[in-house]
Amino acid sequence: MSEPARILLAHGGGGLLTERLLRDHVLPILDNQALRDRGDAAVLATPHGRLAITTDGHVVTPLCFPGGDIGSLAVFGTANDLAMVGAAPLAITAALILEEGLEIELLRRVMHSMRAAADAIGTCIVAGDTKVVERGRADGMYITTTAVGAVAAGVDWRPARVAPGDVVIVSGDLGRHGAAILVTRADLAIDAPLISDCAPLWPAVAALLAAPCEVHALRDLTRGGLAAALHEIAGACGQIIELDEAALPVSQPVHDVCELLGLDPLHCACEGRFVAFVKPDHAAAAVAALRRTSVAVDARIIGRVTAGPSADPVRVRTPFGTLRILDAPRGEQLPRIC
Ligand code: MG
Repeated sequence: MSEPARILLAHGGGGLLTERLLRDHVLPILDNQALRDRGDAAVLATPHGRLAITTDGHVVTPLCFPGGDIGSLAVFGTANDLAMVGAAPLAITAALILEEGLEIELLRRVMHSMRAAADAIGTCIVAGDTKVVERGRADGMYITTTAVGAVAAGVDWRPARVAPGDVVIVSGDLGRHGAAILVTRADLAIDAPLISDCAPLWPAVAALLAAPCEVHALRDLTRGGLAAALHEIAGACGQIIELDEAALPVSQPVHDVCELLGLDPLHCACEGRFVAFVKPDHAAAAVAALRRTSVAVDARIIGRVTAGPSADPVRVRTPFGTLRILDAPRGEQLPRIC
């Protein structure tokens, strides 16, 4: 792929082009240790302990979808990035960009949804900003949320800590958020209801913290799905991740929608799922702890880390015993999914 001179939709897909955009035009210019760590949130040492901070822009369309809306997505999405480094949010801020003509009633609905989401995870939205742009310059509303939290004592979860032998655990079924948005957008008539998995991950992370298991890294599955997340981790740790295809949890409705639209469920977004990389003899304890929480009741082992590096670091072992390469998402199959 030669490098485009302008931004493409695919630069926002969370896959190969997003990675190159950041690697070539953003990270080297802003360069610092926190960015080099490539975590879901930056961990900062302060005189008062270690703080985690993260920020997210939300441009999902439609603004409301089965299982959530842009407000709950913004709060949970940002809090989930903090959870991935072992921090619960102390406070959240929100910047609203509203389009001229947006119905006040819809704004109120989204604000109630943000409040309920913050209440559910025991935090508050303590500061914000509101801007209005002309009709046609934004699609109803965009929301940017920032969250800050204290990292739990003794926790050091980073992609670079993932090591050969680590067991890969996923917290639940794959691709449901992306499939639910697509069904809503395309107004597809399907038999089974498809509801986004949009949910707070902290209860599952708290269960891991309390369990007798050594965790090396967590990553939430968002844009680009499981494939994008595993490529990010493999890129950061230099190892190979081998998945067991038969163990990958994809529900029948998600499978059917993806087949209909020509998508790979492993590239399809989640908003309430994560992968954990756990020391091999601690995997059973980790799965048992996760399954005691409602958000991770279907947690399971899906693969293992082997010694890298490799140009194709993410692979899937098929039920026939053969290995196929799982590519990072290349284009943008689902713009504006989160
Ligand atoms: Mg993340």
